[in-house]
Amino acid sequence: MAETDEPEKKRRRVVELTEKMLVDGDTGSTSDWDDRWNHIKKFLERSGPFMHPDFEPSTESLQFMLETCKILVIGAGGLGCELLKNLALSGFRNIHVVDMDTIDVSNLNRQFLFRAKDVGRPKADVAADFINSRVPGCCVIPYFKKIQDLDETFYRQFHIIVCGLDSIVARRWMNGMLLSLLVYEDGVLDPSSIIPLIDGGTEGFKGNARVIFPGMTACIDCTLELYPPQINFPMCTIASMPRLPEHCIEYVRILLWPKEMPFGDDVSLDGDDPEHIQWVYQKSLERAAEFSITGVTYRLTQGVVKRIIPAVASTNAAIAAACATEVFKIASSAYLPLNNYMVFNDVDGLYTYTFEAERKENCSACSQVPSDLHFSPSSKLQEVLDYLTESTSLQMKSPAITTTMDGKNKTLYLQSVASIEQRTRPNLAKTLKELGLADGQELAVADVTTPQTVLFKLCFTS
Ligand SMILES: [Zn+2]
Repeated sequence: MAETDEPEKKRRRVVELTEKMLVDGDTGSTSDWDDRWNHIKKFLERSGPFMHPDFEPSTESLQFMLETCKILVIGAGGLGCELLKNLALSGFRNIHVVDMDTIDVSNLNRQFLFRAKDVGRPKADVAADFINSRVPGCCVIPYFKKIQDLDETFYRQFHIIVCGLDSIVARRWMNGMLLSLLVYEDGVLDPSSIIPLIDGGTEGFKGNARVIFPGMTACIDCTLELYPPQINFPMCTIASMPRLPEHCIEYVRILLWPKEMPFGDDVSLDGDDPEHIQWVYQKSLERAAEFSITGVTYRLTQGVVKRIIPAVASTNAAIAAACATEVFKIASSAYLPLNNYMVFNDVDGLYTYTFEAERKENCSACSQVPSDLHFSPSSKLQEVLDYLTESTSLQMKSPAITTTMDGKNKTLYLQSVASIEQRTRPNLAKTLKELGLADGQELAVADVTTPQTVLFKLCFTS
């Protein structure tokens, strides 16, 4: 009897629910049907061999996830769409999403919350609308903004932040923001000020997921050396010994374009201009023919010129799944989180590996100690600037250097404001001694890679 009744009961419940939603438009928490969270309850309301040793199965974890836990998703692109879907279906209902982009037609193959009619609209808005209308009771709040346009008070409200970004600078900024929220009392970190950061990244068939407890485990800047600088081909290969179709395209882009100026003297190569790409493509074909190289296509040409790494939907799905699982583990505290860095590769078969990234003692972002800068008094300020941008552990973009002299703030060099750049540019050619800097002097450096200024201590070498 019960067996035949069950499906009918279920069907009736769904009908009732749908009718209710149609009648009063209510998608609030009343919309839970009896067995809605059964899949989640299996993890939270009974014990198992992989459970956190201190976890007591109960109904409270699920209530916390459904009612209280506030999650911030950064990015509503390839990873972001997957993350929002995974989190919403796992029982998270207070989700905020930040994204500064609008939808492009080329996103539609994998960013499945978007449709052709949405092209041109903000990703965050469309993604939130989609989830809110599709997952009853879930409330996604969108922000069509840059992460830099939101402040400490905004970020402080979240229990967990999960990033699906394609930019290292943005990742580092987010990392810096969470580090700036930490509260230290007599040098001891107040654990309640820690907001866990789950970071996912993909590049073609490769991806990684990591868990960061700011101030406790390795931060983004601790492992900066893991992000290699963009691959560039050696100039000699491009100029005289091309072997790959990419070498031929680079030859045209770097050497031929500035020489021939095919669209006029001041016209720089625009990767979005089909005529420009067509010109580069034709010239690259000629170059390739000269060296019997095959494989130059229009698509590859555009890819090389715009430095496009094709996005792979399956990589995004796997990485977002790993990240959402970590959010679930930390929010419920039912399982030990990933410790702490997982790499994933599906170029050829499937490979994953997990290791524990270690904190860097003198990390300029999270170590709380000013890093030392070793320079001779006769070094020029330009050398310091070069070090800040070129050092693999710092990789700054446009550092602004200030210091305190005779109790006053003095800007030594600042790039982002044209008038100040002009005024401070002569300093670059001066030596540290000429600038009046002393051994042990503190330099405060601001950069787009962090919301805080980074302190350095100048150590003179002889
Ligand atoms: Zn660090």
